[in-house]
Amino acid sequence: MNLELSEEQEAVRRLAEDFVAREVTPHAAAWDRAEEVDRGIVKKLGAVGFLGLTIPEEYGGSGGDHLAYCLVTEELGRGDSSVRGIVSVSLGLVAKTIASWGTEEQKREWLPRLASGEALGCFGLTEPGTGSDAGNLATRAVRDGDAYVVDGGKMFITNGTWADVVLLFARTNDTPGHKGVSAFLVPTDTPGLTRRPVHGKLGLRGQATAELVLEGVRVPAAAMLGPEGKGFAVAMSALAKGRMSVAAGCVGIAQAALDAAVRYAGEREQFGKPIASYQLVQELLSDIAVDVDAARLLTWRVADLIDRGKDFATAASKAKLYASEAAVRAANNALQVFGGYGYIDEYPVGKLVRDARVMTLYEGTSQIQKLIIGRALTGSRPSEYAPRVAEYADGCGAGHIRPMLCGMSDTPVKQQNTAAYYTQAVLSFGIAIAAVGIGIFQLDAGAWVRAFLAISVLYLTTSAFTLAKVVRDRQEAGQIVSRVDQARLEKLLAEHDPFQKL
Ligand SMILES: Cc1cc2nc3c(=O)[nH]c(=O)nc-3n(C[C@H](O)[C@H](O)[C@H](O)COP(=O)(O)OP(=O)(O)OC[C@H]3O[C@@H](n4cnc5c(N)ncnc54)[C@H](O)[C@@H]3O)c2cc1C
Repeated sequence: MNLELSEEQEAVRRLAEDFVAREVTPHAAAWDRAEEVDRGIVKKLGAVGFLGLTIPEEYGGSGGDHLAYCLVTEELGRGDSSVRGIVSVSLGLVAKTIASWGTEEQKREWLPRLASGEALGCFGLTEPGTGSDAGNLATRAVRDGDAYVVDGGKMFITNGTWADVVLLFARTNDTPGHKGVSAFLVPTDTPGLTRRPVHGKLGLRGQATAELVLEGVRVPAAAMLGPEGKGFAVAMSALAKGRMSVAAGCVGIAQAALDAAVRYAGEREQFGKPIASYQLVQELLSDIAVDVDAARLLTWRVADLIDRGKDFATAASKAKLYASEAAVRAANNALQVFGGYGYIDEYPVGKLVRDARVMTLYEGTSQIQKLIIGRALTGSRPSEYAPRVAEYADGCGAGHIRPMLCGMSDTPVKQQNTAAYYTQAVLSFGIAIAAVGIGIFQLDAGAWVRAFLAISVLYLTTSAFTLAKVVRDRQEAGQIVSRVDQARLEKLLAEHDPFQKL
């Protein structure tokens, strides 16, 4: 295992570091006070390629792997979380989702503009009444000819007042819960869509957060992203990767806290010595340093898993959970090192504390991440929920081949497989008993032969039935675990994980 960055990755990291030093850090405090990042930053982010990372070049993206994306996100987070959020949402939640789910026409329409910064995207899932429970959203899209008419409202939408397109989630049928939800790409200048800025945030003050009100918004049916009724799967696949981006941003916050605290501890003198010489201050610094390293490694692991086409969703939840809590701790520890000066906005650590705080809330609160991780460990979930992908794949075939070892499981596939096995076993056993009975009572060679033939025919029939099922399940399992079909894996993961919430 090699944790060293490749030359290319190091070059991307340095590019981001220089960009942040030049375009972000010098303005971060002023943008925070003004409650608005300079909008010109969007074009600059696009020009340097940061809004097109991992998007294929044929759609105007700048390519690159997910580790490069993490390195850029970390640097932006180190400079200003408000700027980092612009990229995490427009690229991470919107452009990448269009790249995974969009039709050719949708990709051609939106990706080049989003990747260049000519257009900005926002992600409209949360509503005033539904946050963690996003699958129960109430915004409705009713079919009317070749269009849908959307009514409802969205809350806390990052980039909301700036965005040119909203990836909007709305209910298209009466099926309760996440199954009735569809996704749409809605230009924000569509009549009936109103945006209201959300002011007074504790942190991320420079970021354009908005409430969206939708009244009779007419959206062409061709603007639906992904199949009808699969909008929640679209949202969950976006968020699974989005959590890596949030985690990387948190590493940036923690690194900024460490840099500032180490520098200040070396400069500030008390009792005739730099405070850095006191071991209790060193303890604060070392706690931050360990948090930085641990959060970074957890985040890089997610990028590595994605780039190698592996299942990454639980790892992303672990990284997001740890990194967001670590960022809050790190910023708070740094403020302690600064003493009273940390409490005024002349110094950067107060802003770090405020900006870090939201990280444990959005893209799934810490409690929701714990539920996801706990469920991955135990498999326990409400019974109507489908199995997680690995278990699903494992259940296919294994249920036939090793039913006694697998035993009955809470996963529908294993249940079906185990049931098929027992059906076959019971039938065969019954036939065997019948055959022996015939043999005992008739005691002639012809009866034995007839019984043997009857057993064989019936056993082969049930075996053929079971075998056909094994083959079908294995094909399905093969599709699910196919490492080349990452998009399908993500879709299935999302479909089967309705409990992962924003
Ligand atoms: C600055 C900011 C930017 C945002 N940007 C976006 C955006 O761009 N797009 C978007 O769609 N949304 C966005 N959000 C919304 C964000 O994702 C939600 O705030 C978040 O999902 C939590 O939802 P909620 O605020 O409704 O809290 P609730 O869901 O009401 O949760 C309240 C508390 O209850 C806990 N809780 C809820 N359910 C459970 C449970 N089952 N078990 C245990 N505890 C539980 C939560 O962990 C939390 O502590 C943003 C929010 C903020 C603050």
